[in-house]
Amino acid sequence: MTLLRLERVTAGYDGAPAIRDLDLTVETGETVALLGPNGAGKTTTLRTISGFIRPMGGRVGLDDRDTRGTAPHRLARAGISHALEGHGVFSGLTTGEHFRLGRRGQRLDTERAREHFPALVPLWERRAGLLSGGEQQMLALALALARRPRLLLIDELSLGLAPAIVQRLLPVVRRYAADIGAGVLLVEQNPHLALEMADRAYVLVHGRVVNHGPADAMRRDPELLVGSYLGAA
Ligand code: ATP
Repeated sequence: MTLLRLERVTAGYDGAPAIRDLDLTVETGETVALLGPNGAGKTTTLRTISGFIRPMGGRVGLDDRDTRGTAPHRLARAGISHALEGHGVFSGLTTGEHFRLGRRGQRLDTERAREHFPALVPLWERRAGLLSGGEQQMLALALALARRPRLLLIDELSLGLAPAIVQRLLPVVRRYAADIGAGVLLVEQNPHLALEMADRAYVLVHGRVVNHGPADAMRRDPELLVGSYLGAA
């Protein structure tokens, strides 16, 4: 079933569109990458989906229900989780305390999180402030997934992290999300990393989709991707 459907969405800032006539879908259990150069409108797309920006035109549907005008906290309750860098990680709390305390009385699936992120287990009693950047990001993602979101939005995981760390983290996120039937929409500047683990991808240039399709086809046809990027220059 289609979890998320954007139809001809136009959105931006102060009446100036940053994305135009955008069509995009994410299915249940699917990982979709949103690629494109700086300023293409990737972050704007995520903010529109999570309700921080109200579209000027078009329709955003979650389970086929129109989300326009729904406040971000309500969309969060409906299962849209927007993972921002270091979001929800507190330096004074241990890894384990993050799971025990949860958020707003929400029950977290700690056991499943430990199974999918075994690297967190030896860090259970360590304060988050003493974790490396990659470990903090892993904790933030594990917490986001332990809340059992329907749709996880991830913005630029590779920012500030070594590619090798991202390469290890992304497949874990994908497996975990597929396990709980969540969709993932992943914004990445590094197309190689993203295409390795996504099911499908969209390329955004100047706020418009210039290319989309199965990730493996895009990987095999790098010119398609490079051409889209060069088109932006
Ligand atoms: P990057 O990878 O550089 O973050 P992006 O693809 O995520 O790029 P967006 O951040 O969505 O792109 O930006 C799209 C356009 O909207 C850009 O022209 C940007 O300058 C503009 N923009 C982004 N945020 C704001 C804002 N808060 N106010 C006004 N304009 C903004």
